[in-house]
Amino acid sequence: MAEAAGVEIRLNTTVTKEYVEKENVDALIIAVGSKPVVPPIPGLQDDNVIVVNNYYLEKDKVSDQVVVLGGGMAGCEAAIHLAQEGKSVQLIEMRSELAPDANIRHRPLLLAEIEQNKIHVHIGYKGLRVTEEGVVCTDEAGKEHLVPGTTVICALGQQARRDVVEELIDCAPYVAQIGDCVRASTITTAIYQGYHAALDI
Ligand SMILES: Cc1cc2nc3c(=O)[nH]c(=O)nc-3n(C[C@H](O)[C@H](O)[C@H](O)COP(=O)(O)OP(=O)(O)OC[C@H]3O[C@@H](n4cnc5c(N)ncnc54)[C@H](O)[C@@H]3O)c2cc1C
Repeated sequence: MAEAAGVEIRLNTTVTKEYVEKENVDALIIAVGSKPVVPPIPGLQDDNVIVVNNYYLEKDKVSDQVVVLGGGMAGCEAAIHLAQEGKSVQLIEMRSELAPDANIRHRPLLLAEIEQNKIHVHIGYKGLRVTEEGVVCTDEAGKEHLVPGTTVICALGQQARRDVVEELIDCAPYVAQIGDCVRASTITTAIYQGYHAALDI
C-alpha cells in the first residue's frame, strides 16, 4: 500500500542527524520504536535465555520446561502459546497481578487462558539470577526460591528509543514523534499518532 501510494522505501538505512541534514527535508516523523528491557540480572545474557521479541527467530532453541520472566501482556501471551504447544510453563511476575495494562475486555480472557492451560504462576516473585536449572527469585518475604526450567523467556518490557529521538529532534523545520519511541504502547496508538502527524504537515 505504501509503494502504491508513492512512498519511496529505503531499507537497511539507519537514520542519523547527519543523514537527515544531508537530505534537507521539510518534515521528519520519528517512528523509531522501542527496544526490549534486559536488566543486568546475572545469567540473563546466557544461551538458555531468549528475549520474547526474538521468539520466532529462536523458537527451535526452546526446551519443554520453560520459565517466562515477566507477566505483562507479552509474557502472558508467550506463556499461553508455549503451554498450548505442550510445554510445562512457569510464569514469574514481581507485581501483585498479571497484565494490569491489558484492557477490560482482553484481560479476563487472558487470565482464563492462563488457568485453562495450567500455567504455574508466581506472583510477587522477583528474578535475582538465571541458572541452568531455572530462575532464582525472592518472594515478598525475601525468601529465595528456584523456579525450574531449562529455557527462560525474557519478557520484561520495552523501552522507548529516546536516545535516537533526542538526536533527531531538531533536524527539520517540522518534527513529530510517534508510536513506541514516545512511550511503548500498541499498534493502534502508533497508527493513530502517525496518521495525525502526517495530517499536521
Ligand atoms: C512481544 C511483543 C508483542 C506485542 N504484541 C502486540 C499486540 O498484540 N498488539 C499490539 O497492538 N501491539 C503489540 N505490541 C506492541 C507493538 O509491537 C508496538 O506498539 C508497535 O510495533 C509500535 O510501532 P512503531 O512503529 O512505533 O515502532 P516499531 O514497530 O518498533 O518500529 C520501529 C522501527 O524503526 C526502526 N529504527 C530504529 N531506529 C532507527 C533509525 N535510527 N533509523 C532507521 N530506522 C530505525 C526499527 O528497526 C523498527 O523497525 C507488542 C510488542 C512486543 C514487543
